[in-house]
Amino acid sequence: MPNTRKFVYTFAEGNKDLKDLLGGKGANLAEMANLGLPVPPGFTITTEACRAFLATGDEPRGLRDEIAEHLRALEVRMGRRLGQADDPLLVSVRSGAAFSMPGMMDTVLNIGLSDTSVAGLAAQAGDDRFAWDSYRRLLQMFGKTVLGVDGDLFEERLEAVKRAKGATSDLDLDAADLRGLVATYKGLIAEAAGQEFPQDPRTQLDMAVRAVFASWNGDRARLYRRQERIPDDLGTAVNIVAMVFGNLGADSGTGVAFTRDPASGKPGVYGDYLANAQGEDVVAGIRNTVPLADLERLDKRSYDRLLEIMGVLEDHYRDLCDIEFTIERGTLWMLQTRVGKRTAEAAFRIAAQLAEQGLIDDDEALRRVTGSQLAQLMFPRFADDGTGAGRLRPIARGIAASPGAAVGKAVFDQATAVEWAHNGERVILVRRETNPDDLAGMVAAEGILTSRGGKTSHAAVVARGMGKTCVCGAEALHVDTTRRRFTAPDGVEVSEGDVISVDGSTGCVYLGEAPVVPSAVADYFEERTTPHDDADELIAAVHRIVSHADRRRRMRVRANADTADDAARALRFGAQGIGLLRTEHMFLGDRRKYVERLVLADTDDGRAAALDVLLPLQRQDFAEVLAAMDGLPVTIRLLDPPLHEFLPDLTDLSVRVALAEARGDEAADDAALLGAVRRLHEQNPMLGLRGVRLGLVIPGLFAMQVRAIAEATVERVRAGGMPHAEVMVPLVGDVRELQIVRDEAAAVFAAVTRETGVDVDLPVGTMIELPRAALTAGRIAEAADFFSFGTNDLTQTTWGFSRDDVEASFFTPYLDAGVFRVSPFETLDGDGVGRLVALAVGEGRATRPDISLGVCGEHGGDPESVRFFHDTGLDYVSCSPFRLPVARLEAGRAVVLADAAQRGGGDTR
Ligand code: ADP
Ligand code: MG
Ligand code: MG
Repeated sequence: MPNTRKFVYTFAEGNKDLKDLLGGKGANLAEMANLGLPVPPGFTITTEACRAFLATGDEPRGLRDEIAEHLRALEVRMGRRLGQADDPLLVSVRSGAAFSMPGMMDTVLNIGLSDTSVAGLAAQAGDDRFAWDSYRRLLQMFGKTVLGVDGDLFEERLEAVKRAKGATSDLDLDAADLRGLVATYKGLIAEAAGQEFPQDPRTQLDMAVRAVFASWNGDRARLYRRQERIPDDLGTAVNIVAMVFGNLGADSGTGVAFTRDPASGKPGVYGDYLANAQGEDVVAGIRNTVPLADLERLDKRSYDRLLEIMGVLEDHYRDLCDIEFTIERGTLWMLQTRVGKRTAEAAFRIAAQLAEQGLIDDDEALRRVTGSQLAQLMFPRFADDGTGAGRLRPIARGIAASPGAAVGKAVFDQATAVEWAHNGERVILVRRETNPDDLAGMVAAEGILTSRGGKTSHAAVVARGMGKTCVCGAEALHVDTTRRRFTAPDGVEVSEGDVISVDGSTGCVYLGEAPVVPSAVADYFEERTTPHDDADELIAAVHRIVSHADRRRRMRVRANADTADDAARALRFGAQGIGLLRTEHMFLGDRRKYVERLVLADTDDGRAAALDVLLPLQRQDFAEVLAAMDGLPVTIRLLDPPLHEFLPDLTDLSVRVALAEARGDEAADDAALLGAVRRLHEQNPMLGLRGVRLGLVIPGLFAMQVRAIAEATVERVRAGGMPHAEVMVPLVGDVRELQIVRDEAAAVFAAVTRETGVDVDLPVGTMIELPRAALTAGRIAEAADFFSFGTNDLTQTTWGFSRDDVEASFFTPYLDAGVFRVSPFETLDGDGVGRLVALAVGEGRATRPDISLGVCGEHGGDPESVRFFHDTGLDYVSCSPFRLPVARLEAGRAVVLADAAQRGGGDTR
């Protein structure tokens, strides 16, 4: 069969929009070449070839010939052959995937050098030292990358030669030293790899190409992809580029540059330069680089040309560009460019600046920032950001789980955290890991530090939801909660009460207090101020972009808020109502005893007595929130606790009764209670008598809550307000359950209308949080004015696992095995849970076209999930107040991203 696929492209054939095929590096090399910029000639092997290689373990048919053909053309163009003895063409073999994965995969320079051509190179350059330096670099990179020899072994040999000479820098080694090193390296390769370094140039090339293909699946690359959520099946392209030499003496060198400051976004000249060096030397830190601005002094002509090119690239890409260049004896060569990575702050600043300059429109500006970047900007941070925390040195590093900067006294249990915080102390809760019992302590603490668990551990997830700083999985720390202290690797010991600082943006932990500054961006949202002209540029940028998102978004945003205070805060963050008001907390604390009585009552009178106490308390709770959210919808969920939360602990109670009996005490109350608790004890409380089931089993409970809502509504109407309460029934699996509650509610509304003369008829709807509810949504919609997707429970019940158990025991192995790309509790599992959501949306609307559809799980504040909900056609998302700005931004981005996709690409990334 003839080969019809094309696996190799010259730079002239590519362009920047072919990233998927040519990788980012290849596509942009082509783009630069076609802009007429000085790029050394070369060609690119496609990601498709790599995918074929990874699938079969072999180069796809035809690839070898295609490479040969392109190599020949390159040789003709350069006027010399690869590895030619008297004047060798040398090339680099460079990885480059569609998404930039800096330093994660491999590159080999100086391919084509051999025992014979090294002399040719020396003669052509008139520089022996240069030729031997290039050869030893090839052996080192090839040995490590292609032949799998431990890189440290090469470094050790290099150090030994330097030491023997009393040299401090590789520049102090002369041709003879380097020649000796080449011999050493060849010996090392033969010994460690069990094969000689190949002298044939084409063999070198082919082996290097295979190694680059294979580096797609290297450990570093996989880990990086997982963290950056890059799919595992894309493969990398391979770029073959004619070598230019920065190691040809003092008038040569190599550097990196940014067209703007990637930390702040300010325009200017940023970068590093290293004279007489090649490739990786700049970032490898083997010698001290000089600031790029110094190049003006060293080589003004190249410097001016570089600045000119940077201008061309910025105008062309209309964005911050990140550049690699090399100067060979006074001639400037461009080796790479890409739209540069940047901090969250720079992302907002640059997008707004470019929109201001008219280089991009506001839709494009909105596409160029992300919800997670906005989230980062909202956390407080250490004043000395990025460089660590000032004069302090980190004592340990963990996973940067929830950004921000927290300083406080170390405490080791939640009770102490609560007590100290109550006394006005700032505390950091330090645990091996956290669980729901630690919640009060987490709320009380400035920050949370754990020695175990990953980005989706309980500590991390809860901290992010609360907007609290968290470093988790600082495994080098030995946390001893019994002795109330932890030890760090250097032997540093931190006891209860010692002050520590925790940087949730870098994962660093410091002993002592590092100065922090509150986030100006969070202040801006909280205050709802409009920045004026001279306001901080960053705030102005955020304001511009989020306001545009508000104009563009279709979905409304509501908050999950349980109290009037939460509601007021939510409003400041832009809430357009409450999507989930939980009532469980209204039954805890002092009120718990009434619930206990209610649950345990075995007569109607007993129940009625308990309900009578609860009714006015509930009415008051609801009236306060309805007042705070006047004019906006407030979705109130009827009680949905696992039953045991309201009952005494079975074991405690058993012990109490047993002890009393042993003492011969009379404990009739406890004994009766124990009987009831035994009777109601459940094996799986989360799958037990919860939600609507509890409402159906305990007569009068839901009716009391509905009445409290109705009466609160009347109270607000009489006070001249505009209350919009909605009654939400949890955990419905069948329409009949909902219908029963609905009938009961209708009777209550009618009664309250009769009693008060104020017309009350509130919407009644349900959560969709069981697969059966989603599967029968068409029926359920007959009895529902609205659906609110409870995606936390829907995720648990669809997968059939509980969140706590996943995170405690098998989250990491599941990530490693590739079952999870990301926690399904953090980002909605579109393939599974998402299909149920889409199905329910479709069937619900078919039954009741005007049905209101929202989501109230924490996914409502997750960037990727918000876009999914937009695409699925929901009317609103609801999340915790602090995450509202992110939801607003992403709801707007969902619209502009969809627009751009429809127009066919554009500048989406
Ligand atoms: P990475 O993706 O890790 O940056 P690169 O493929 O860009 O790897 O190459 C590593 C280093 O080698 C870079 O500094 C690059 O500029 C340099 N380099 C790559 N190809 C050449 C070449 N043909 N001539 C000179 N230097 C090169
Ligand atoms: Mg590079
Ligand atoms: Mg639920």
